[in-house]
Amino acid sequence: MTSNENQENAVPKSHPRYESLKYRHKIIEGMKNLVVAEAGLIAHGRGECFDYILGEKTTEVAKKAIEAAVATLLLADRPVISVNGNVAALNPNELVILSNVLNAPLEINLFYHKEGRIEAIKNVLQKAGAIEIYGIDPKKMIELDGLESNRRKVELIANADVVMVPLEDGDRTEALKKLKKKVIAVDLNPISRTALWADITIVDNIVRVIPEMIKITKKLKELNKKRLNAIVNNFNNKLNIQETLDLILDYIQRQKKIAFDIIKF
Ligand code: ATP
Ligand code: MG
Repeated sequence: MTSNENQENAVPKSHPRYESLKYRHKIIEGMKNLVVAEAGLIAHGRGECFDYILGEKTTEVAKKAIEAAVATLLLADRPVISVNGNVAALNPNELVILSNVLNAPLEINLFYHKEGRIEAIKNVLQKAGAIEIYGIDPKKMIELDGLESNRRKVELIANADVVMVPLEDGDRTEALKKLKKKVIAVDLNPISRTALWADITIVDNIVRVIPEMIKITKKLKELNKKRLNAIVNNFNNKLNIQETLDLILDYIQRQKKIAFDIIKF
């Protein structure tokens, strides 16, 4: 039994926060295996906080963004899915399935480099069934203009027209936008720089987004280009982010009432 299974088994399935704890343990295990950077733990915590005030579910607003994202990826000539440590640790199997159904290659791209990390992420993806993984061979990498972090080193992303960036850093989103790429972000924080810079912002937990995207891809693959374009053109990211913020405000208002009903002063 791996220590991950040990940790997961320590949480009974009946625990009211079972799902959340299960993913926490995946991130912790990912850190022990070098897949997740130490700072990735903190980023996960920031994500959890936003997930909490979104009700920990895929909202109808997020579903609209997911549909627009899938249509955009299906219409793309050279789509790429960028992979960081957290994403690889949380749901590698679904990530590989999504890459296959969309015909969008996976490229490892990290903010924090550490000896052995790329190798560890590559192993996780290969174990999940990935055959081709980009962003590994330094000889094939080029540097993006306007970016100083490690995330500037890219392979297929350099020539991609659409890049999906789950759990991204704002600096690179901005750099990718300046290079005229269409950016699809998955970020639980609707007001992060990434969320605001992206063309399509999916404000939802990556662990729910990827399975939903697989489902929607299978549906939208049946549509012709004209109908896919109509989905993309009908989507308004600014409005979508505003609606997400309204959902958060409503949720907090409702929880405020519930909390005051439960707690007797
Ligand atoms: P930015 O650089 O875009 O301004 P930031 O510096 O606040 O954002 P980063 O640490 O760069 O945040 O990126 C991590 C982001 O990933 C956070 O906004 C966090 O909410 C989000 N995040 C963490 N875990 C998840 C998850 N499981 N699903 C979706 N988003 C997540
Ligand atoms: Mg950041």
